[in-house]
Amino acid sequence: MPFDNSFAELPPAFYTRLMPTPLPAPYFVAASSKAASLVGLDPALLSQPDFVEVFSGNHVPPRSQPLSAVYSGHQFGHWAGQLGDGRAILLGQLNGPHGPMELQLKGAGMTPYSRMGDGRAVLRSSIREFLCSEAMAALGVPTTRALMLTGSNQQVIRETIESAAVVTRMAPSFVRFGSFEHWHYRGKQEELRILADYVIRDFYPELQSAENPYLELLTEVTRRTARMIAHWQAVGFMHGVMNTDNMSILGITLDYGPFGFMEAFDVDHICNHTDQGGRYSYANQVPVGHWNCYALANALLPLIQDKEAAEAALDGYIEAYGDKFDELVHAKLGLSTSQEGDRALFDAMFKLMHENHVDFTLFFRRLGELRLDVMDHDRNEADAPLRDLFLDRPGFDAWAVEYRARLRQEGSSDASRREAMHRVNPKYVLRNYLAQTAIEKAQNGDYTEVSKLLAILERPYDEQPENEAYAALPPDWASHLEVSCSS
Ligand code: AMP
Ligand code: MG
Repeated sequence: MPFDNSFAELPPAFYTRLMPTPLPAPYFVAASSKAASLVGLDPALLSQPDFVEVFSGNHVPPRSQPLSAVYSGHQFGHWAGQLGDGRAILLGQLNGPHGPMELQLKGAGMTPYSRMGDGRAVLRSSIREFLCSEAMAALGVPTTRALMLTGSNQQVIRETIESAAVVTRMAPSFVRFGSFEHWHYRGKQEELRILADYVIRDFYPELQSAENPYLELLTEVTRRTARMIAHWQAVGFMHGVMNTDNMSILGITLDYGPFGFMEAFDVDHICNHTDQGGRYSYANQVPVGHWNCYALANALLPLIQDKEAAEAALDGYIEAYGDKFDELVHAKLGLSTSQEGDRALFDAMFKLMHENHVDFTLFFRRLGELRLDVMDHDRNEADAPLRDLFLDRPGFDAWAVEYRARLRQEGSSDASRREAMHRVNPKYVLRNYLAQTAIEKAQNGDYTEVSKLLAILERPYDEQPENEAYAALPPDWASHLEVSCSS
């Protein structure tokens, strides 16, 4: 593997060079062929022992210069000081058809930034990260990718004893908002500038010629973050731990922990059991994204040197979020034009979904089946699959009258709208119970469900009649599932 190591060319203060800690008898769990193709690796080879050795950290390829990066961050709104890659080790980057991608082993052993941690990740959380990274990519949400998942019978102590695993993550860069905060809070302007120049040179080269490239960096990262969060809201994804050390400088979803996909819609839903105050609830993701951009702006201010301009850049968040979310919701409703009154139609829909705890994914998928060409007296029957999701049927009927009127007004046709809506409203998302089923099988030595689920989630918009069961509402046992930060 012809690794390059551009992050390692930064001064040593930015990282610690170290070797991964080997795991006993690592085994192959799963690989993503789509991710493999991004870095020119043959997916069929990934299950071979040589690759399992590399991607469990037991063998470091000759051209790799492994390192763990330092960063800091705000956790749950409070300054947390120095954090850093406590269990992630960067191998370097591989060139692919879309440019270089860094490969990082998560769970590869202790680093100088491990603090109280053991440097490991458990199979349970690693399966979740592996599957969700690839599921999000297939949904069209900006995200880090997951190439490979290996396991070992080495015991790892969490609430119970679990087994170790390593996820190989890929992204053009793993630099976080917290990477900048780190230098700002230490008063190290030179390092701050070096990091900003590196990020601009390698990932935002078009900004190099700007009058104030640091201001443009803030402007662009703010916009990308806003758009990423608009995607999250539109697909019902909740990150769970939007600390500034988990916010990517590229505006991609980073660090999958106690995430969740919205099922029974509740705008205040909290997916992370540890987040008792609901700081990172579904509704709060939007303002928290903005708050995080403020934290980044604060760190970049010594370089930007223009407070008013930085504030104006941050104001761009609201517009970028609004525009993107509006665009996505129009598509979700199969509307090809934007009209006055659309906002009221959307608000009424979300309010009704919230009050009726309607399953987020099923609602939008079934909405695509709604027909205009039905006679009045057949309408309730025709609408039944969608209508039956609501306890408040008259409420739904009233909204559907408005929606149909809006569709007619733009001359919408049932067949083409259905097709367009099914391309943006997924049928298959990573519901907690689906992940849990794959996890429990894997914990008993059967890894087939991980790959099966991956294959389904790679085609979230396709009907896949043979996999109909994977689109079903969660079973009763799943209502007791709790997802915490423990990973
Ligand atoms: P997270 O909430 O997973 O984003 O992690 C926050 C910080 O804790 C990061 O610096 C992680 O590297 C670190 N961390 C989390 N779990 C472990 C672990 N088991 N061993 C070492 N460091 C960890
Ligand atoms: Mg993290």
